[in-house]
Amino acid sequence: MKEQDKQRKKLILLNPGPVNLSARVKNALLHTDICHREVEFSQLQKIIRFALLKVYGLSPEDYASVLLTGSGTLAIEAMLTSFVSDHTKLLILSNGVYGERIQKMAEYHRLTHTVLRQLWGEELDSQRIESVLFEDKSITHIAVVHHETTTGRLNDLSMLGELCRKYKKELLVDAVSSFGAEELRFKEWNIAACAASANKCLHGAPGVSFVIAKKGYLRDSRVYSPRSVYMDLCEYYQKQEAGTTPFTAAVPAFFAFGEALAELEEEGGWRARKEHYERLAFLIRQRLKKIGIRQYLTQGLLSSSLTAFYLPGDITYQELHDRLRQKQFVIYAGQGEISQTIFRIANMGNLTEDEIENLLVELEAIVCKR
Ligand SMILES: *Cc1c(COP(=O)(O)O)cnc(C)c1O
Repeated sequence: MKEQDKQRKKLILLNPGPVNLSARVKNALLHTDICHREVEFSQLQKIIRFALLKVYGLSPEDYASVLLTGSGTLAIEAMLTSFVSDHTKLLILSNGVYGERIQKMAEYHRLTHTVLRQLWGEELDSQRIESVLFEDKSITHIAVVHHETTTGRLNDLSMLGELCRKYKKELLVDAVSSFGAEELRFKEWNIAACAASANKCLHGAPGVSFVIAKKGYLRDSRVYSPRSVYMDLCEYYQKQEAGTTPFTAAVPAFFAFGEALAELEEEGGWRARKEHYERLAFLIRQRLKKIGIRQYLTQGLLSSSLTAFYLPGDITYQELHDRLRQKQFVIYAGQGEISQTIFRIANMGNLTEDEIENLLVELEAIVCKR
């Protein structure tokens, strides 16, 4: 095969981002070159910022979105470092890799925090959380990962929101792998801010991430002490409200993001996307069960966009990955302590039922004909 043809052959991405893009979104990457200081970019930024609020029906009176150039991790770190001041104390709930990453951020930036650590994949323990909140009155914020992509666990924000209201705490959410395809009730769950990226459930290209925050949080940077130049959300907010942006933006990725958000709305918003994902996940879960592959999590809330499975005993991840990769399918390994025992199949991105069916046929052939 010629090198060029190889690059053109479509891969089906079953990893949790970056995802397969629709032709429409991909074409938007080829927009004419634009400077981020020109009016065209300013208009695009305005459209994206508004469309992001609209995904969950948020009023621009109460919330604002701030766009960043970088991956989801940047948005989370910017959210934590901009909103957790010296007068606040963070309770970090951790039941997977991404909860542990939040802890690492808190440690590196020396934020006042405490961690409630649970086993990976375990459901959040509301009684333990409540007793921490009851005993430590200095806690002001709770940081949580909505969809722990490590295992596919969807953390129960409804339960957490209730505790936040009862104890008057504010919620900071890593919604990187849930925004656009899972329910997020900002007001009811006391969500002060959430961070996410363009290239997971929103079907945009990698390079753009964002934070949506209560407007009151986006204070004037002159009255608080920012901890970082590039991650000072309030600075971005002020500039973006004025139609500009502080640093060079990933302009092509912004164009793709604008298109992806328009597409989401036309397709029926997050509810329709969740339904589509659930259908794909159902096909995957059902067929794997039939061929004797056990699901890692079976109890409690599961995300609609990713499933972790135990590897069949007689095949390594690398072998399974490589054989599927030969057929143009890209699956995803487990992380850390479960990397040798599980594999993951995400169903986010511009995927059809037919593509999933083709994957399942290949997977079945590999697993059953051994
Ligand atoms: C993917 C992911 C991240 C990190 O996103 P990057 O874009 O790789 O920086 C953070 N949190 C969760 C829950 C994720 O799924």
